[in-house]
Amino acid sequence: MQGTFDTTLEFAQRKDREDELEKFRSRFYFPRKPAAPSEDAIYFCGNSLGLQPKDVESAIRQELKDWQDLGVGGYMQAQNPWLTYQEPFRKPLSRLTGALEEELTVMNALTVNLHLLLLSFYHPDTARYKIIMEAGAFPSDQYAVESQVKWHGFSPEDAIIEVSPREGEKLLREEDILSAIDKHRDNLALVLFGGINYYTGQLFDIAAITTAAHKAGAFAGFDLAHVVGNVPLQLHDSDVDFAVWCSYKYLNGGPGAVGGAYVHERYAHNRDHIRLGGWWGNEEATRFKMEKGFIPKPTASGWNLSTNQVFNMTALKASLRLFDEAGMERLRAKSMELTNYLSFLLQQLPNLRFDIITPIDPAKRGAQLSLYFKEQGKAIHQKMIEAGIIVDYREPGVIRVAPAPLYNSFEDVHRFYHILALFQ
Ligand SMILES: *Cc1c(COP(=O)(O)O)cnc(C)c1O
Repeated sequence: MQGTFDTTLEFAQRKDREDELEKFRSRFYFPRKPAAPSEDAIYFCGNSLGLQPKDVESAIRQELKDWQDLGVGGYMQAQNPWLTYQEPFRKPLSRLTGALEEELTVMNALTVNLHLLLLSFYHPDTARYKIIMEAGAFPSDQYAVESQVKWHGFSPEDAIIEVSPREGEKLLREEDILSAIDKHRDNLALVLFGGINYYTGQLFDIAAITTAAHKAGAFAGFDLAHVVGNVPLQLHDSDVDFAVWCSYKYLNGGPGAVGGAYVHERYAHNRDHIRLGGWWGNEEATRFKMEKGFIPKPTASGWNLSTNQVFNMTALKASLRLFDEAGMERLRAKSMELTNYLSFLLQQLPNLRFDIITPIDPAKRGAQLSLYFKEQGKAIHQKMIEAGIIVDYREPGVIRVAPAPLYNSFEDVHRFYHILALFQ
């Protein structure tokens, strides 16, 4: 890789001129540098909260106007009828996730959806009750699994198997994940993995984990918070049973935006598959008869519970249009190049002591690189913030740097490098 990049600003500017996605940058608002309010900050935090597309404001205005003009009539007559507001999300999401449209829905938020789908896919008995997850999974996932295990009367110490990196290593080895699944095959109920680990940035082999889980007689579920909108997925072809994600990271849906969920069609089509019911998951034809008897829709929307939270969904709708225009394959190609370039420039910095713990192989990561500082990580993060670089810090010792290909440029990466090169 090193031969293909150089450290000059001209190189970065040439890459931007050649980039057919460069025009999308101007369709986002950038925060400003605190010390120089006329300058855009360097924003590499799209893995935590994506930036606001400029179209969001008019999309929200439209809903406000329809509410003003139509009141309750907006459920049927709004430009985007609120009754079925979740439906148009399926098509763009199917292109990002490789799922069939009927396997997808939007509702609630990530952790809520994880609990709902655990209730559909984790039915432990004394023979099969174990859950395999990655050690160091996102805390909310750990809390969700721990509390579900207890809910069913099992003990987390016994029921939860964590796969850890080997002594002295930071990443999980694929073969260790697969052998743990095989080892516990007699008692295994579920394999629940993050698609990309939020701390290390490691991308897991979703298809291989799913195949191994199924071979062991267990379900395979994934938390794709760091994957959707970052790395293309083939959820249906990978035969994944269920998945959940949030929409405020790479998807730019705004703080607390509606979450997403995928349920494989063999369950989505099965009205008898067990779940918690609510009227928004019920067939529309009978929903307003107000009668007894829950008849779920024969799609992933059969897991919806409550009236669409329209204002929580609108920004995502506007953002997904940009993903459709840009195309996930082109975004991923740019993302690999951008993060490879970042990795190259970081390795030219003689004065900062850190390890890039994220896999070097771009096929095993998304946009994010995790820089591990044995010491001073927090202080260096503070210096970055003061210099107008927006990245985040995660204990212990990691600064996460994630250029988002929809709005970040090669020049952003160069500016970042240039500022770090001045740090002592
Ligand atoms: C961001 C993130 C979450 C957040 O969950 P919410 O319910 O949206 O607050 C959960 N899991 C992972 C892996 C995440 O990265």
